Amino acid sequence: MNRIRVNLEKRLSTSYDIHIGRDILDRMAPVLAKSGWAGRWYILTDSNVSRLHGDRLLEVLRGNGLAAEIIEFAAGESSKTIATCIGLAEELLKRGADRTSGLIALGGGVVGDVAGFVASIYMRGIPCVQVPTTLLAQVDSSIGGKTGVDLPAGKNMLGTFLQPRAVFIDLAFLDTLPAREFTNGLAEIVKYGIIEDPELLAAIEEGAEALQRREPALLERLVSASCRIKKGVVEIDETEKGLRRILNFGHTVGHAIEAESQYAIAHGESVAMGMAAAAFISERQRYLSSEDRERIIAAIERAGLPVRIPQALDTARLLSHLAMDKKKKDGKIHFVLLRKPGMPFVNGGVPLELVQETIEALKA
Ligand code: ADP
Ligand code: ZN
Repeated sequence: MNRIRVNLEKRLSTSYDIHIGRDILDRMAPVLAKSGWAGRWYILTDSNVSRLHGDRLLEVLRGNGLAAEIIEFAAGESSKTIATCIGLAEELLKRGADRTSGLIALGGGVVGDVAGFVASIYMRGIPCVQVPTTLLAQVDSSIGGKTGVDLPAGKNMLGTFLQPRAVFIDLAFLDTLPAREFTNGLAEIVKYGIIEDPELLAAIEEGAEALQRREPALLERLVSASCRIKKGVVEIDETEKGLRRILNFGHTVGHAIEAESQYAIAHGESVAMGMAAAAFISERQRYLSSEDRERIIAAIERAGLPVRIPQALDTARLLSHLAMDKKKKDGKIHFVLLRKPGMPFVNGGVPLELVQETIEALKA
């Protein structure tokens, strides 16, 4: 069991704790009961997570004398819309939620984004607690206060920053997570290892088999290390003006792959290919040694993630996604590159032709 404090500038938000461990739900109820954050809690969750874990959370909260109820919406990225948020807000209103109520986001990234967004606008803002249930949400999206929904023109086009009052990461949720979702989350852990923590990278390389078995002690170690890295970046750059961009390692090409595949290739898989691309580009630009590039590719593969870009994805179309990416400035693509594992930097001078060659090489 682990507690990590996210220290934020008072002017912007209140600092908060990330609680990590097994059976964290039992610890959560007393924390909420003592907190005074809300008089009544509404658990927002999706249909899958509600069925698997909703009743248990409700029981724990009510057993500790808290007023709580569940509101669910259909599982899946297609629910990440303003229409879902309006529906949820109307349901909250119908059930009597007011400014003294709080939301609990129980689920993966979709639930965290939607519930966080609703919390940030419902009656001009009510408290939100994050209870992430996917590996991806536990190590990434539940921390840092980004909320948002999609528009037909693009993902996360509407959103806010709303730091949660607390994050409760119960590793037992991962027991029910489908294999593909689990591997998907590993991509962000590999990313943290590559950009910040060579020791974490080594733990993934050495523990790959134990990781696939979801060995609890190793998982707790990796999730805690990841949360510590994410929180460190968020503390320095709460609203993503600078440093936080290094967390986009692998995401420039990754987002293009995700979008061009119409999201058939999952976020983590796309980011894995994108990290491979960023490593190759770093090498071609003479920042990264070929040994380090090989090590990075091997680590991604050890985690069970793909590095090859499918032939079916058209290179020209991938490049056009890159050119539209909001990280683009003055015709050059902005990339997070590497000098060494643990030494990332933002580079604004990557020519499109080099990106094209890299994509072609990764398709071969
Ligand atoms: P993320 O963005 O974190 O990958 P999503 O919110 O898109 O997550 O969730 C991915 C899928 O996994 C959804 O269908 C969701 O309902 C399901 N899911 C979330 N948590 C669990 C869990 N602990 N066990 C089983 N399925 C889960
Ligand atoms: Zn990501």
